[in-house]
Amino acid sequence: MKIICIGRNYFSHVKELNNDVPDEPVFFMKPDSAILRKNAPFFLPDWTKEVHHEIELVIRINRLGKNIEKRFADRYFNEVGLGIDFTARDIQNALKKRGLPWEKAKAFDGSAVIGASFVPLDSLPDRKNINFTLKINGKPVQEGKSSLMMFSFEDIISHVSQFMTLKMGDLIYTGTPAGVGPVNIGDHLEGYLENIKLFDFMIK
Ligand code: ZN
Repeated sequence: MKIICIGRNYFSHVKELNNDVPDEPVFFMKPDSAILRKNAPFFLPDWTKEVHHEIELVIRINRLGKNIEKRFADRYFNEVGLGIDFTARDIQNALKKRGLPWEKAKAFDGSAVIGASFVPLDSLPDRKNINFTLKINGKPVQEGKSSLMMFSFEDIISHVSQFMTLKMGDLIYTGTPAGVGPVNIGDHLEGYLENIKLFDFMIK
C-alpha cells in the first residue's frame, strides 16, 4: 500500500505559502509507517520546531489501474475520508531552499493521520462539493470544499496513474485549503466531513 499526497491544490493555500500555481498536479509520497489511525495521539518529534496541520480529503483506491483516462477515473474510488498531512514546515522550507526532496519534512512517523472511517460518496449531499473542517480546541482553523480544488479527484487519478500503477488500498491525500498553522502540545484536533466527525485526537 502506498500514500500519495497532492501539493498546491487549493489556490488560497498556494498563496498563503507564496508558491507558484501549478499547471499539473504536484505529488509526493509518504510510506505506510507514516499512518496514524484510531485517534492515537500524535507525538511532536524533537527535531522540528514547527509541525503544521494540513487537513485533506482522502480517497482510497478500490481497484488496480494504470494510465487511467479521466472519464473513467471515478470507477477507481467510491468513498472519501479525511486525514492530516502533518508537515515539519521549518524542515520543509530548508529543503525547498536547497532544492532537496521533502521526505524528512513530510514522511515521518505519524505524519499521515487517517480518520476512523470512510464515507460512501453516494451518501453525500453533493459529491462534487464536499465540505470539511478542522477544529483545534473547539475552534475551526481550516475549512475546505472540494469544489475549490484546482485538480479534481479524477484529474489526480488520471495524472498519477500515468507514472505509477494504482493498487487497491492506496490512499491519495488531495491537498489542503488555506489556514495551515502549527500544532502544540495539548492541542485537541477534530476533523469533520460534512457533519460527520472522522477523527478526534490529541497532540502530545
Ligand atoms: Zn498536504
